[in-house]
Formats: sequence, structure tokens, C-alpha cells
Amino acid sequence: MIIGGGVGGGAIAFHLAELGETDVVVVERNELTSGSTFHSAGLVGQLRSSLPLTRMMMHSVETYRRLEAMGAELGTAPGWTEIGSLRIASSDERMEELRRQHGWSKTFGLGMELLSPTECQERFPLMTLDGVRGGIFLPTDGHLDPSSLTNSFFAAAKQLGVSVHTHTRVTGFGVQPANSGRGTRVTRVDTDQGSIECEAVIAACGMYTTEVAALLGVTVPIVPMAHQYLITKPIEGVTSDLPSMRDPDNLVYFRNQGGGLVAGGYERNPAPWSLHGVPRDFNYRLLDEDWDRFAPLMESAITRVPAIEQAQIIQLLNGPEGFTPDNEFILGPSEVDGFFVAAGFCAHGIAGAGGVGRVMAEWVLDGTPSIDCWKMDIRRFGGAYSSRDFARDRTVEVYSTYYDIHYPNEERQAGRPLRRSAAYPALAALGCSFGEKSMWERPNWFEPNAKLNVGIDLEAQRPHGWAGRHWHPAIAAEAIMCRRAAAIFDESSFAKLRVEGPTALALLQRLCDNDIDRAVGSIVYTQLLNDRGGIECDLTITRLGDDQFQIVTGTAFATHDLGWIRRQAARLAEGAGATITDVTAGASVLGIWGPLAETIVQQLTDTPLAQASFPYLTAQRCSIGPVPTLASRVTFVGESGWELMCPTEFGATLWELLFEAGRDHQLVAGGYRAIDSLRLEKGYRVWGADVTPDDTPDEAGLGFCVNLDHGDFAGREALLARRADGGPAKRLACLVLDDPRTVAMGSEPVRSNGGEILGRVTSGGQGHATGTSIAYAYVPTELAVLGSRVDVEVFGDWAGATVSAVPHDPKGLRVRA
Ligand SMILES: Cc1cc2nc3c(=O)[nH]c(=O)nc-3n(C[C@H](O)[C@H](O)[C@H](O)COP(=O)(O)OP(=O)(O)OC[C@H]3O[C@@H](n4cnc5c(N)ncnc54)[C@H](O)[C@@H]3O)c2cc1C
Repeated sequence: MIIGGGVGGGAIAFHLAELGETDVVVVERNELTSGSTFHSAGLVGQLRSSLPLTRMMMHSVETYRRLEAMGAELGTAPGWTEIGSLRIASSDERMEELRRQHGWSKTFGLGMELLSPTECQERFPLMTLDGVRGGIFLPTDGHLDPSSLTNSFFAAAKQLGVSVHTHTRVTGFGVQPANSGRGTRVTRVDTDQGSIECEAVIAACGMYTTEVAALLGVTVPIVPMAHQYLITKPIEGVTSDLPSMRDPDNLVYFRNQGGGLVAGGYERNPAPWSLHGVPRDFNYRLLDEDWDRFAPLMESAITRVPAIEQAQIIQLLNGPEGFTPDNEFILGPSEVDGFFVAAGFCAHGIAGAGGVGRVMAEWVLDGTPSIDCWKMDIRRFGGAYSSRDFARDRTVEVYSTYYDIHYPNEERQAGRPLRRSAAYPALAALGCSFGEKSMWERPNWFEPNAKLNVGIDLEAQRPHGWAGRHWHPAIAAEAIMCRRAAAIFDESSFAKLRVEGPTALALLQRLCDNDIDRAVGSIVYTQLLNDRGGIECDLTITRLGDDQFQIVTGTAFATHDLGWIRRQAARLAEGAGATITDVTAGASVLGIWGPLAETIVQQLTDTPLAQASFPYLTAQRCSIGPVPTLASRVTFVGESGWELMCPTEFGATLWELLFEAGRDHQLVAGGYRAIDSLRLEKGYRVWGADVTPDDTPDEAGLGFCVNLDHGDFAGREALLARRADGGPAKRLACLVLDDPRTVAMGSEPVRSNGGEILGRVTSGGQGHATGTSIAYAYVPTELAVLGSRVDVEVFGDWAGATVSAVPHDPKGLRVRA
């Protein structure tokens, strides 16, 4: 069952039917397209900041071409017009961004062109050249008529057997206990025309989704925002082949329509709308023209395209659209079994619908989409988003800065600080510069550390260009001191999950590629794989008792990993006797690492800490001073030391004890930016960047975690099949760039010496302690050998790099020191 007759619902219905699932009913409370879809500007742009999202947009374009060709057969066509799109730079910084995007586009095979100012004007003769530095042109972008697209989707779906009921409003749901015995499962949809039994429900209700999902108790943080564009009467010089044009520095975009122009943009003073519920009768309706709010955009539009000043205005169209707190779609399965969401398209629903239709159909039918959708996954949001005000503040912030250049490591400000660890006041007193992840305030670096005397000119390490913007010399100082003496990090935000009960071990053995059946106190680094052998989770598991396990995973992955494990548990017999709980809030975690870490901690405990009695990858309960602690000898920085976990109420005391004990041992407080530098040097992977559901452990260089002898675990067959088929064709390689201050930050193309594009950077940065610039990228296996020369494109320039061993401790001697 699909709820919603907009472009989202239509695309999902079509893709489900194409994949063979024709027992599909669509219900729409009014007429098809009567939500946000009918008033869209219809622009379709493909290049996005992430690989999966760009792939989705590319699939949209393929689908729209196909539907256009099917026009005669369907009796309707989307009006797909593939005339390309131009994005211009009106500042030097923007030109740098466009060069970077031009680089990314090569890894997608999108055929994007980099243009000079006059070449831009040749493509779009009505524009002025004031301040224009250049532009990029993507020939396969275009525009269409949103209502016709939606009608085409529904016509094609109906042809394949889907049934569509308009004027049918969903009023409630029926649920039963979930098969797993945990939570509920949706089994029935109630409408004002009667009830329908169903196995799966997809809420594709645009800005109305929040209310529909709330009927089931599911939080979907979508904020309706008024969004405007101007439509003019015909203007001389506007031809039907005039491409769309975006001028993000001036916050405006243009496209041709009926010989005139459509001009819209993103205002600095956005207008959230009807926050306490979309009116019952809000269909085929618009909001009043808001000229005051549009005035700055109008001024920008006239500056860039002077012909608009004299043009006759047909309408200032003001329509609401569902935006989200991070400007990404909200897709995927909710905590109620069988209830999926596909909404919050943030003014990209037309461009995205084809891709959304495909991934949602796969998600419902196969259990996972074929593209890594984590950044769009509904599970990325935590509990704070059930607050309307909080969701609104975050959404307003991203909307008002939509066209800004978003430099890597930029921090959002709205709604902060929210989640604060026990050590937070102590960190603040030390001059901490905080960053935010999943609403946790986390240390990025400590300002005073910039003055530490580490024997080198730290400022001289500042990276060139963008990478040098959100950079601080303290980051380098902290990383260097961790290698030389010791550093302490507040990692309380780490997600902690408990898996307990008689079948806990059996369940984990089914889910993990590594063998979890080890002695109590063992710590195992493992991946959880999907049926394709791709990495769904990457985490450590500590055996606390025969039937009790603790998982530690990244701050942002709590809901994702918890959701994955619970869903697998629900379909496996082993899941019946295991409880899975998020215990993140219950414990503070402090990481202390470096050659002097043992000396520092030993002052505070009678537990012998030397490797002989407390080996690497083991955990012991001990008292650190009076603080009851679970000490785990693991590291994410490549140095000997511990993650010390204690009940939250002891966290402040633990920080004070350790910091004081380290005073005579050069202990420094460190932040996450130093951790990132240290982990890059050691080659530790980050899930979502270096390893994703599209990569197998063998490809990711994590084959050492795969234990094939511990039974039939998820993904085992796929791994075996791939190994039998000649092994991985690509491998994650460590690239060390020739110039330590030329720094890749992710997504940059990598080419062979012969010039062929091989892949893209998954993550990169500086290794401060080794004076290196490091990037990771999947490259063909034959090139993933030490000494291979490749190039990485950093802002339009190809920088030489060598496939290298990880710069720090490749043999792993220090973690066992
Ligand atoms: C001014 C403006 C310009 C835009 N320009 C562009 C653009 O150029 N390019 C682009 O890609 N995107 C653009 N968009 C965004 C795009 O229009 C939307 O993202 C897209 O239309 C959303 O589609 P949808 O199917 O999610 O939602 P909708 O079209 O809103 O459909 C949801 C449907 O669910 C139905 N529904 C709600 N509650 C119930 C219920 N209880 N029972 C049954 N049915 C229910 C509603 O009646 C509605 O028809 C623009 C949006 C605006 C406002």
C-alpha cells in the first residue's frame, strides 16, 4: 500500500510494478499531484554531494527519458526536455567549489564541462557577466512538467496492474505485535472509504507525512516551508533550448518556460508554514504571494538577468514543500515493522523521484536498497527531532544557507548545545572548541593546545585552499602529543548497544563475519554484512558474560546499527531469545592513548595494566581511583591505551582523575579532529565513507576479520562466491600525496598515470604526526600495490600520490606495546 498520489507515490508504484510486485494499492486523499507536486518548477539536476544521491538522480533521468519515449503508449508523457543546466560562479570561492564539483563529476561519468565566463554567456545569452568567474555545464540535466511526470508514472503503474484510489484519505492504522515479539507491525490501513489489509505501507505523503506517521507513533521530522518562484510572460531571447541556470552566490535559479522565465531561489529569511499540521483541505492550493520576502531574490535575479526587470510577471508562485533538518530525503523502514517512509524531498522531489522509486521498491521487496542510502535513512534522526521547535530551527538553518558553500568540517549551530557528556564542563573550562554529531557536543580541539611546544611550526602545516579553512594548529599539536606522550579524549557519545539473553551468542554468530565465540573479556572487531557481502555495520563487540555482549559503534550509527541488528533478529530464529538495547546514555567513555598512557592510568588502579596481564583486545573491570570502570584495551588512533567506560554519574570524576594524573606526563586533552588524523595514519576505516554496504571486507582490506569457520553468517555465501570468482576487482588503497599540504577531503577523482579515472577518494586528511597528506580510495586490484603512482584531483589540479603502506605503524607493534 502506498499513501500519496504525488510524484513520490507514483514513482514507487511504477518501480514496484516493474520489479514484478503488482499487488499494490495507492490511496490519495484528493486528486493525483494535488500536494506539492503540481506547483513545482520542474528542474532536474543530477550532480549532488554524495555518490549514492547522484546515482539516484542519474536513474531519475534515465527513467524520465524512458517515460517520454513511452508517451504514445501511456497517453501521457512527462515533457522531459534535456537541454542541460549551467551553474555559474560569482565569487572566487564558488569557482573553487565548481572546480571541485567538476572533479567529482568525472567519477560519475557525467560529461560535465568547465566553462569560462564568456562560454557561460554563450550558453545563456541573457545573463550579465558582472562578477562571473566561470561555470559548469551538465548537458544531460533538464526540466519537465511535474504533473505530467506524475501522471506518466501512474499510467505506467496502472498498466502493470497497480490500482489507484483518489479521494481516499488515510485516517488510521491497524497493528499487531511484530513477528519478533518486539514492538508492532502494521497490518491494516483505515481510510474514510474503508479499511485495507496490507503487508507493507509506504507513506509518500510529502509535507503531510509527519501527521500520517504520527497516527502510528512514528516521528518524521519534516517541516513545511513556503517556497517561491516567479513566472514571467515571454521575454525576447528566451528560446526553448535555453538551459537552466543557477547562480548560487546570488541565491537564484532560472529556467525557460513558454518563452518566458521561471526565477526562484532560497531566501535568507525562510518561512516555515503551518507547523501544527497541514490543513485538512490543503490540496491544489497555494499560499499568498510574499513579495517582501522575495524582494532580495528579485534584486539578485535582475542583477544577473536584467531582462527580468521589464518582463511582465504572470505570478509569484508561493507553495509549501516538505524540508528536513539536514536537507536530505527521509527514506526507509521505520521502527514499526512494515511501515516505510519516502518523503521530505526538500525541493528536489522531481529530480529525485525516479531514484527514490527504485530504492524504495528494492527496500520493500529485498530488505535493502541496492544503493547505500544511509545519509537519507530515516534512522539517522534521534529522539530530539520529535520536538517540532528543534526540527524547525535546524531546518530553517539549512534552508537559509542552502546555496552557501559548505566547507568540509563546517559545524551547524541551531539547537545547540543539546546532548552534553559528564565531562562537558571540564572540557569547556579547558578551552574546547566543540563540534556536533547526532546532537552530542564533542571536542574538536582545544584552543590552548595551539601553543604547545612540539618542536615544529604548526601553522606551516596548514593545508592549502579549502582544507585550511576549518583547521586549527591545535589539531596537529594534539595528534603529535598523542604519539609522543599521551592524549585523553572524551568519547562518551560513542553508541553502546547490549545484546543479551540465551541466544545472544547464536544471533551474533549469524550476523558477524568474525567469530564472536571467545572467552569472556574478549573484544572482537567485526563487520555485519548484507546478503551481497556488503558492510552494513563495522564495530567492536566485547563479551561481558556468557550471554552478554556489548557493542561499541560510531556516534552517528546508534539508530542505524540498532535497527539493522533488530531487523535481522526479527527474521532469524536466534533472535527470539536475545534482547537488544541502546545503553549509550548510561556510560561515559574516555579514551586515553599514547606511550605514557599506561604509566598515567596505572597510578590510579591496582589492576596490573602491562600487556602481559592486560593484552590488546581484552577488557577488564577495574577501579580507576574510586570509579568503577570497564577498561578495554582497544584503540582508534593506533597507540597503546584504553577506552575507559564508567556509569555516567562518575564521568566527570573520571575525567578529573585522569587529567590530574597526567599532569606530570605531558598528557593533553585531544579532540575528534586529532583522532581523525591519527586514524588516517593508521588506516582505520570509517563506516559510511571508507566502508559502505556496497563494499565487501575483502575489498575494504578487512578480510582479516572474516572467519569462515564459525558457521553460516550473513553474507558468507556472497563472499565465498566472490572469492571463487577471482577475488575483489577493487581494493581500498592508502594514497600518500606528494605534497603534505595538498589535502583531499573526500570524493576527489583518482586517476592512473595513464589518465584513466579509477575511483574517488573515500576519506582524506593530514597525518600530522607523520607530516603526510593521506587519502583512501578504491582502485583496481592490480593498481593497489605498494609503489603504484596515481593522481588525485584537488581543486582542478592533479596531485601526484603513491599507493603506500599506512604511514603509522603498519605492523601494529605500538598497539601491543
Ligand atoms: C515552489 C516549489 C518549487 C519546486 N521546484 C522543484 C524543482 O524545480 N525541482 C524539483 O526536483 N523539485 C521541486 N520542488 C519540490 C517538489 O515539488 C516536491 O519535492 C515533490 O513534488 C514532492 O512530492 P511528494 O510526492 O513527496 O509530495 P506531494 O506531491 O505533496 O504528494 C503527497 C500526497 O499525499 C497525499 N496525502 C497526504 N495525506 C494523506 C492521507 N492522509 N491519505 C491519503 N493521501 C494523503 C496528499 O494529498 C498529496 O497529494 C518544488 C517545490 C515547490 C513548493
